[in-house]
Amino acid sequence: MSVMNILFMGPPGAGKGTQAERIVNKYDLPHISTGDMFRAAIANQTELGMTAKRYMDEGGLVPDDVTIGIVRERLAEADCANGFLLDGFPRTVEQAKALDEIMMNLSKKIEYVINIDVELSALKERLTGRRICKDCGATYHVMFNPPKQTDVCDKCGGALYQRKDDNAETVESRLSVYTNQTKPLLDYYQKVGNLTSINGLDEIDVVFANIQNILGSNL
Ligand code: ADP
Ligand code: AMP
Repeated sequence: MSVMNILFMGPPGAGKGTQAERIVNKYDLPHISTGDMFRAAIANQTELGMTAKRYMDEGGLVPDDVTIGIVRERLAEADCANGFLLDGFPRTVEQAKALDEIMMNLSKKIEYVINIDVELSALKERLTGRRICKDCGATYHVMFNPPKQTDVCDKCGGALYQRKDDNAETVESRLSVYTNQTKPLLDYYQKVGNLTSINGLDEIDVVFANIQNILGSNL
């Protein structure tokens, strides 16, 4: 099995976390989500968490120096030696440049940049209907991917909650931040030549199958 470093791009609500959950299970890769790392820091009431919360509650981005620092540390950990799946980073050109430098210093490269493409008009409904298990982190949607029992996780029986930033007003800010700061990165990776886009409006299982097709027999 070869080492595979994968990056998921796409707007908030595109399905990155949903697909990451499946891909890391199947291929036994660490799932590195900067959003999850910040939420864990908030839950643990650390200094990082207190800083991140100020930006997240408004739908803005946590400053680059803070975000780059936690990713730099995380990618150097031993469990990343055989590959990783990065989700939610980079989100700015500055972060993308820093990632290039981090990878170069680790003598690694990103083999696949997979862009999960969903038009902005579909995302509000996706985000406001999202529910997450407080125990295992599994993601549901009240309409598109409902749990068998309302507000109870199918996988572990944990209670489901709604993210604080998944309200209509904050979603608007997050989508405009995406358009202005993150979407330009698609050009960046297009030029590097390792970008593949897939249709994120397909059913969850179809998107999963298409991602596996891209990764092919390399994993
Ligand atoms: P992201 O990590 O990109 O922000 P999520 O994976 O959390 O997005 O998905 C956002 C919401 O959309 C969740 O409620 C999820 O259940 C739902 N969702 C994900 N993929 C699909 C899909 N292909 N079709 C319909 N709903 C989806
Ligand atoms: P996510 O879980 O990816 O939707 O991220 C939730 C929030 O965490 C974002 O709206 C940002 O406030 C913050 N965040 C996550 N990743 C980053 C990043 N790479 N750069 C800056 N802020 C981030």
